[in-house]
Amino acid sequence: MSAAELPARDAMEFDVVIVGAGPAGLAAAIKLKQLNQDTSVVVVEKGSEVGAHILSGAVIDPIALDQLIPEWRSEDGPVHTPVTADRFYMLGPSGAVRVPNPLLPPLMSNHGNFIVSFGDVCRYLGRKAEALGVEIYPGFAAAEVLFENNAVAGVATGDMGIGKNGEQKSGFTRGMELRAKYTLLAEGARGSLSKVLIERFGLAQNRQPQKYGIGLKELWQVTPENFQSGLVQHTMGWPLDNGTGGGSFLYHFGDHLVAVGFVVHLNYQNPYLSPFEEFQRFKTHPLVRDTFAGGRRICYGARALTEGGWQSVPALVFPGGALIGCAAGFMNVPRIKGSHNAMLSGMLAAESVAAALAAGRAHDELADYEAGWRSSPIGRDLWRVRNAKPLWSKLGTLIGVALGGIDMWTNTLGFSFLGTLKHGKPDFATLKPAADCRPISYPKPDGKVTFDRLSSVYLSNTNHEEDQLVHLVVRDAALQKSSEHDVYAGPSARYCPAGVYEWVEEAGKPRYVINAQNCVHCKTCDIKDPNQNINWVPPEGGGGPNYPNM
Ligand SMILES: Cc1cc2nc3c(=O)[nH]c(=O)nc-3n(C[C@H](O)[C@H](O)[C@H](O)COP(=O)(O)OP(=O)(O)OC[C@H]3O[C@@H](n4cnc5c(N)ncnc54)[C@H](O)[C@@H]3O)c2cc1C
Ligand code: SF4
Repeated sequence: MSAAELPARDAMEFDVVIVGAGPAGLAAAIKLKQLNQDTSVVVVEKGSEVGAHILSGAVIDPIALDQLIPEWRSEDGPVHTPVTADRFYMLGPSGAVRVPNPLLPPLMSNHGNFIVSFGDVCRYLGRKAEALGVEIYPGFAAAEVLFENNAVAGVATGDMGIGKNGEQKSGFTRGMELRAKYTLLAEGARGSLSKVLIERFGLAQNRQPQKYGIGLKELWQVTPENFQSGLVQHTMGWPLDNGTGGGSFLYHFGDHLVAVGFVVHLNYQNPYLSPFEEFQRFKTHPLVRDTFAGGRRICYGARALTEGGWQSVPALVFPGGALIGCAAGFMNVPRIKGSHNAMLSGMLAAESVAAALAAGRAHDELADYEAGWRSSPIGRDLWRVRNAKPLWSKLGTLIGVALGGIDMWTNTLGFSFLGTLKHGKPDFATLKPAADCRPISYPKPDGKVTFDRLSSVYLSNTNHEEDQLVHLVVRDAALQKSSEHDVYAGPSARYCPAGVYEWVEEAGKPRYVINAQNCVHCKTCDIKDPNQNINWVPPEGGGGPNYPNM
């Protein structure tokens, strides 16, 4: 049945629709209600509950929380563990050199920050929002942007109950139209609707390409002797080579919990590289291996993060709405922090929306949000670190990171010798043909500290209704074979942290298999496929990971 033949969708009217119940979306919702209790605000969230799709480190800078919910420090909320020790190491294969804290630019200090599960923080923000009268609909993916006179007029949630073959199943229900005067896109890194709007309104024109990393994370409960509440530890170097950017984080918090994670910059060149295997290998380093002895791995997941910063933030506004949070790319890469800017941008956009509504406006551009962010705390945060990522990409880890550190120091003093450097190619264009690269042989998992991909995905509690349209759309199957497979040796089988993609030999021919039900919604395939031939679209709402506290 074509879209025109389908029954009409029900529609609901609001002042503001927000797509995504992450830090950006929830902070915007709360701020809107604080500014005017009568503003009607709805938030749609594709996860089965608020927090189910949230994966972060996370060490948080409380600047945004202090502004939005000043009473949080006196409440029994999800923020308990202050940072007590902050260590930074360069790793070699068997040794580690600690960088003395006084050498690090002051902006890198974690003094005054807190270690949290950001999923739990979002659940807390969700409760605050609902107490103010915000309507939150978890389990509903916004699948389509609604336009009226070339302005965004809201979103439609996806239809439910369409089988793999495109036929309606017995429980078929049409999606719902959520119409609004303003629509805020808070989908996080590489949002699927944000991507459509950036393209349609040319928001990325005259900007550097957005850059990305993939972050993989495990949550462990460790033994008391291996636990040091408040310890924050970051590393760079091994197991990545000097030409591949990335590093690890290890945060001790809560009830003997250790969040361990590994980020690989997605401008890597060797198609044989597997971010998942690099992460597993990292955990065997003598600096960290003992942390996990006798411990239990509780959860696993992965998520892309934005790395382009100041140079790559697109124009934020379009008629009828705006991008907020990591959908716009406010992540500060050297600090490995984006949640504070996500919240601040949501609050800034909310102020702009509230003023527009008070003036009786609708469906126009929120020009003051666009004009204000670069001189706000978000802009000041990103400006000082703007050259760190380009230097790392161009000069490698040893020299690039050292020069980036010097540039961050001079920027702290108010100047830079380098101006504003460019990022170069988008991440999908950086892979070299497999014939020019060395295959990488990874050690087998030991089942104690290192694990395989499928047993890991199990710990993400990922679940999708199997009989539904595949949400990983390969636009041109022949191109996938002739290029992704034949030229690049099938990198999707390695970069996907959930083992979704496989090339299997059938009757002497390679066949592309997509195990879509395993997808953890990290968005890496949408970013890294060398031909931009994979389009990630939202599956039925409620599908995807069910992270308890990531
Ligand atoms: C591995 C890793 C470590 C990190 N460590 C830190 C750290 O230590 N400190 C820190 O401050 N920051 C850290 N960050 C960054 C931080 O997590 C992000 O900056 C922040 O989460 C961005 O918030 P957001 O609200 O913009 O997007 P997200 O947190 O990604 O939230 C987006 C929400 O929108 C939902 N959504 C998306 N599309 C749709 C749709 N179409 N329909 C309905 N719902 C939708 C998603 O399910 C999700 O719930 C880290 C990120 C990663 C990946
Ligand atoms: S299929 Fe794509 S979005 Fe899903 S887990 Fe794999 S790389 Fe991530």
